[in-house]
Amino acid sequence: MNLRRQVGQFLKRHGVKTIVDSHTHIYKNSQKRAKKRKTITMTYGRFPAERLLNIEKKLCAGFGVKTRRVSFGLPNYAIDHREHNRYVLAESKKNSTITPLALITLETSQNSIQRLVRLGFKGFKPYPEFSSKKVTSIFDYVSPNLIRIANKTSKPIILHISHDIPSSRIVQEINKLSSLMPNSRIVLAHMGETFLNRSIRHELYQGIKNLRNVFVSTSMCGEPALFELAVMTLGPSRIMYGSDAPFYLSHSTLIQYDKKEMHNTTQPHGRDFVEVTREKFSWTDQNIRNKILAEERAKIPRILDWQVQGLYDALKKLYMQKKINSKQIRQILGGNAMRVFR
Ligand SMILES: [Zn+2]
Repeated sequence: MNLRRQVGQFLKRHGVKTIVDSHTHIYKNSQKRAKKRKTITMTYGRFPAERLLNIEKKLCAGFGVKTRRVSFGLPNYAIDHREHNRYVLAESKKNSTITPLALITLETSQNSIQRLVRLGFKGFKPYPEFSSKKVTSIFDYVSPNLIRIANKTSKPIILHISHDIPSSRIVQEINKLSSLMPNSRIVLAHMGETFLNRSIRHELYQGIKNLRNVFVSTSMCGEPALFELAVMTLGPSRIMYGSDAPFYLSHSTLIQYDKKEMHNTTQPHGRDFVEVTREKFSWTDQNIRNKILAEERAKIPRILDWQVQGLYDALKKLYMQKKINSKQIRQILGGNAMRVFR
């Protein structure tokens, strides 16, 4: 049976009525940067809300589910982050199924952040790329202003962990951030971060398991073992579906270093795999990419298919083992995000 039919039956069996995608980017007019930096925005120079909604509609046709999404712009040097915010907010006013998050820089003032909440933003998205500092810590891009107002207004943030933070400090920094904003919530994108190897993620989940206001989202991940690990360590109420649209339209795969005899101990964070994409994303090693593409091009799946397959496999297995129930499956696919981004 194909994945589509399996997923359809799975959603029906567990009474899933709404799927909430907790991590989507919508934006227009990124062409300028696309010319300058031949990376992601070359492929996805524009990704207006209509396009995302159409893709979701097509994907979920026949499943009898409604879709909602948490949306924000992109870190982008050519387009002012405020322009992204205006676009996302305007789209959320036209369509109440879009939950808007505001991009925040190190310089955004307390008044501006408070104003964004009054305007209707439901949370915040700081980015290491926005920092004017040399980033070696979460606090180089999550400002005291943001922490204070997020806590005061009880609005969540989605957090990326920068590559430049030593892995030995990640747990400690998230603990500190969590304690500084007890009324707010923190969602770690990409199940912690795609570049962290398995043993570091193991340590990360252990290190945050008592932080009740810290969650992980499945965006850009498709490894069933990782989802199972997070569910078993953090519990099903702290993991939520997220896709990272539009990048999920790319074709990408993870290749184990050891499998390819390319184990590289100089990689930061002891990365134990290499992400290979058909598109020339800035974070992929071009030499390795070219070598693998030559061998495996035909086998490289669309990220979305890999994500859905991985999450489906993990949830099905956990359900069969009676480690989660239908209600918890509904929470992972939507309920948790609704609760966090309120
Ligand atoms: Zn993203």
